[in-house]
Amino acid sequence: MRYFIGNWKMFGVPKSINILNKINSFHSTDKNRNKYRVIITPPYTLIESYAKYFKNKKISIGSQNCYQKEQFSSNTAAVSPYMLRSVGAQYTLVGHSDNRGEGDTDSMLKDKVKHALKNNLKVVFCIGENKSEKKNKKTLSILKKQLIKVLEKNFNKNNIIVAYEPIWSIGTGKIPTVSELKKTTIHIKKVLESIFKKNSPAVLYGGSVDGSNVEMFKEIREIDGFLIGGASKSSKKFIDIIKNYYR
Ligand code: PEP
Repeated sequence: MRYFIGNWKMFGVPKSINILNKINSFHSTDKNRNKYRVIITPPYTLIESYAKYFKNKKISIGSQNCYQKEQFSSNTAAVSPYMLRSVGAQYTLVGHSDNRGEGDTDSMLKDKVKHALKNNLKVVFCIGENKSEKKNKKTLSILKKQLIKVLEKNFNKNNIIVAYEPIWSIGTGKIPTVSELKKTTIHIKKVLESIFKKNSPAVLYGGSVDGSNVEMFKEIREIDGFLIGGASKSSKKFIDIIKNYYR
């Protein structure tokens, strides 16, 4: 199974559902439709209405983040996994570099993953090195650290997806080379196998994926799909990614 996950970030109002309707229609009739899943993470404001609308359709709805407590608390503006699940979210991103940059620590991320799983949300756990870490050849050690500090053997790996998103690639149009990315993905899967003592969960790539560069990634069979930011805000761009991947 492959995954195409669209992260809308701070984008979208109720009528933006038109974008998802087009993606859903494409997915429903695509000859490759059983080979992949489409998940979209709109902002919190749209989760309930979109999840209701797409309940028995192809697209699944997720959240871009969740708070590191399970149910209710006194933290202003926080939204817990329990609250997200109660309005129909099926997935949540955890550890996106935007949120790590705003102060999410490994121990907060561990609590997010734990509470999300407990509340039946599937977790898309994001990791990635920054530009200077890459320059100093620290990529593999940074990724290993990000994984082992948060994921635990007793977490249900069937409900976890890992998204490798090099920070220097997000929104920049810069992407790793095929050989770099293959090596990094294999490394991530090895670390995950050692954490879970079984097969690795799915590992996605994210960072400036679009319809013209996605073909390059299909050579890397270790990559189980993509986390797509900018291009997920346009139905045409998002559909082009899927079409070109299977061409
Ligand atoms: C992201 O923010 O998760 C992302 C991958 O963005 P983009 O595709 O725009 O680089």
